[in-house]
Amino acid sequence: MIDDHRKIKLLMALRNQGVRDQRVLEAIETVPRELFLEEIFAGRAYDDNALPISCGQTISQPFIVAFMTDRLKLDKRHKVLEIGTGSGYQTAILSQLCRRIYTIERYRTLAAQAGERFKTLQLTNITQMVGDGAKGWPNQAPFDRIIVTAAATEIPPPLLEQLAEGGIMIIPLESAPGKQDLVRVTRTGAGYDRESLLPVRFVPLVEGVAKEI
Ligand code: SAH
Repeated sequence: MIDDHRKIKLLMALRNQGVRDQRVLEAIETVPRELFLEEIFAGRAYDDNALPISCGQTISQPFIVAFMTDRLKLDKRHKVLEIGTGSGYQTAILSQLCRRIYTIERYRTLAAQAGERFKTLQLTNITQMVGDGAKGWPNQAPFDRIIVTAAATEIPPPLLEQLAEGGIMIIPLESAPGKQDLVRVTRTGAGYDRESLLPVRFVPLVEGVAKEI
């Protein structure tokens, strides 16, 4: 009951902050965020905050997840690439709104935990890989949508190449030391259009697969 009340409050706040796509709000309502958190944080699942997960990483704030998903303008036919599976929460939200999602994580532990959650929720349109997301997923390209949930200093060129024409990518980019902007890139026939959406704070995009598990 308490959770229901908090969830409704969160959904109203998201709408007030510009998340307009009803399907995105429905996905937030459907996917149990508590399942993606360490047990000690389960009571805070519907607070609008980022929280720590394993391997020194974070699960993104619900507003950021909803906002990025909204601005991706997804439809059910889309094939999506996600870099930075983390807890798998953003993946689960995206899986509700597209045909298939390919998600890459550099920590084995996080990928395995996320995989268990996808199984529990019977999300069957998710394909996972442990690897360096900056390289993309060449043999599944092109992608209609690409979402990166860790901050880079510049857009990894393979991701630009693997974006379909007419496709959209959303990625946090460091514009100055300590300053990040959420950037939306649209691939057109002529090249790539860029727009800045929002100041944000993400963990860094790190090259290579993690040596630690
Ligand atoms: N969307 C996730 C966010 C996790 S934080 C969630 O809400 O839970 C970002 C994740 O990106 C971390 O798990 C981190 O390990 C991962 N990451 C960072 N650099 C990466 C890279 N080069 N390739 C794949 N994953 C990467």
